[in-house]
Amino acid sequence: MNIIIFGPPGAGKGTQSDFIVKNFNLFKLSTGDLLREEIKKKTPLGLKITSIVNSGSLVSDEIINILIETVISNSKYKNRIIFDGYPRNLSQAKNLNTLLSKYNQKINKVIKLQVSLNVIKKRITGRLTCPKCSKIFNEFFNPPPNNMTCCVGELLKKRDDDNVDVAIKRYETYEKSTEPVLEFYKKMNLVKDLNGEMNIESIQSKISDYLTVIEG
Ligand code: AMP
Repeated sequence: MNIIIFGPPGAGKGTQSDFIVKNFNLFKLSTGDLLREEIKKKTPLGLKITSIVNSGSLVSDEIINILIETVISNSKYKNRIIFDGYPRNLSQAKNLNTLLSKYNQKINKVIKLQVSLNVIKKRITGRLTCPKCSKIFNEFFNPPPNNMTCCVGELLKKRDDDNVDVAIKRYETYEKSTEPVLEFYKKMNLVKDLNGEMNIESIQSKISDYLTVIEG
């Protein structure tokens, strides 16, 4: 089963896809994580995209398509990918379809997390991530341990693009470029809308119900 998880920045895609990975033995393909890794390692690609990512704009489709094909073509991940933060626009969605067909796969289910801008602002400004294992905490909704550490004393960090101004820009980019992609999948009857403002466990339970329904 290949899944896409959609939602604006701060909707809880990372948290929920980590749950899905664990419980449904899938592999998470987060284009945002892949890009941040390049930035952290200061690779030529990382240096090229730092200012784009930090401003809340989208990096070019060419770069993303290359990153994606590396994973889809790997037989280890065949039919067990959860796409988080991808596709972000119609051209990426079409490219994804082409790539999946090339490797004899398809998208089986799409989850959409609906969250208002007000909640998003709070989630984004409170978000803390472990630089080692990428586990996500939130100062308001899912507080980290008192010493603010995760894996073997690794200090939790805020993402460079997690501030209110960039959050608003990312939300606008989502509304303009990414929302239309949902129509593409709605036409295929693949989209499950969920209220992303419920607590983490309630969303997990709804997701489990949806993913355990056997396709007809
Ligand atoms: P995310 O971690 O998904 O919130 O992504 C963080 C940032 O990485 C975005 O604001 C974009 O600058 C960039 N990014 C992530 N995924 C994509 C994508 N599929 N297409 C273009 N840019 C992306």
